[in-house]
Amino acid sequence: MYKTIEEQVLKKTAPAAIWNEFIQHEFERLHSFCVLIYIASISVWVAFDLIVSFLAGQGFTWLSMVFMTAFAILTLVLLFTRKARHFNVLNLLFVATITLGIRLIVDGLPPTFHGVWLVLAAASTLYSASVLPLSRWSFFAAQAITWLVLNPFIHTGVDLFELKGVMTICYSVFLCSLTIYTFLKLREAKLYNYIMSRLLLDQAYNDTLTEIPNRRSFMTVAQKHLQAVPREHDHYLAMIDIDNFKKVNDVYGHDIGDEVLKRVAADIKTVMVQHEFARLGGEEFAIYLAGVRREDVEALAGELCRVVRDQPTQHPVTISIGVTRVEDGDTLNQALVKADDALYESKHAGKDRFTFHQ
Ligand code: GH3
Ligand code: MG
Ligand code: MG
Repeated sequence: MYKTIEEQVLKKTAPAAIWNEFIQHEFERLHSFCVLIYIASISVWVAFDLIVSFLAGQGFTWLSMVFMTAFAILTLVLLFTRKARHFNVLNLLFVATITLGIRLIVDGLPPTFHGVWLVLAAASTLYSASVLPLSRWSFFAAQAITWLVLNPFIHTGVDLFELKGVMTICYSVFLCSLTIYTFLKLREAKLYNYIMSRLLLDQAYNDTLTEIPNRRSFMTVAQKHLQAVPREHDHYLAMIDIDNFKKVNDVYGHDIGDEVLKRVAADIKTVMVQHEFARLGGEEFAIYLAGVRREDVEALAGELCRVVRDQPTQHPVTISIGVTRVEDGDTLNQALVKADDALYESKHAGKDRFTFHQ
């Protein structure tokens, strides 16, 4: 069963908006990993720069200092980068800088080292790029820069048609294909997981009929608001119940009952757009109003009763609301019980109204 559902979901091609959302999500989750890759790459570069400076007699020059400063600036910028699309550009700058730095180190070595060390450096750079959360264009641009700067056939004396050249080109093609394939496959698998988890979360936290958050979602979000300290303004909790709903079902049928539920949910969404609302179950809804004054709650509750009552429809209904102020020591369940008591008062007093818990 799960396999069939999964196949159904994954058959559709993801729209551009989902792609962008996914890349941003990936970047946020892998931000520290990106920083780690940068620091590791820079450390390896510095180690090789020092080895070559002292063992190969190149000497530690001002150019090394320039590169280290550039790396430090790029890493600092990465630490403050929050948007994936900025990282796409930043990473190209990083690839351009580090490949240039590597090229200068390798060029200072005896010619026999050139071909092999350039390919090794290209392998490390491309492997890193293939696991970073990059857009396709940015990854392919990184490939282009890498092969341009670390090309083992430019200024190395390696001849394409001799043994060394043939082996180098074969390995380079293999490396290129492997990193492109890894990048595309990893991205596809991660995107599928992202789409699946989004869908499952959506179904777990939203009510299928009314398409507003469900009880599970409400309990989580309301609990979070409840625990927020210090509270800047008061918090209120409201319970809503449709009046005489059984009659709607009995007279017009269950389908019309469902339509009424959807309509009331839509009204709640319209009026309470700034607050947390949910369908708790059956024809009961709840709203958590954080950081409001009593006058605001009165106005909103009155407005909601009016909007539901005045709907131009063949099947009009009214609602009753019970409201409670959430006291400092209250648990969510205690607040729900108080709101339910107030709701009972509304019903008792004649319905189509709101009542505050005394
Ligand atoms: P009151 O004014 O006192 O609230 O009266 P009521 O008729 O609304 O009474 P009650 O709350 O007991 O009725 C709830 C009804 O809601 C009973 C049940 O058949 C109906 N109901 C619960 N869930 C659904 C649903 O998903 N769809 C439909 N159509 N009806 C539902
Ligand atoms: Mg009820
Ligand atoms: Mg009811």
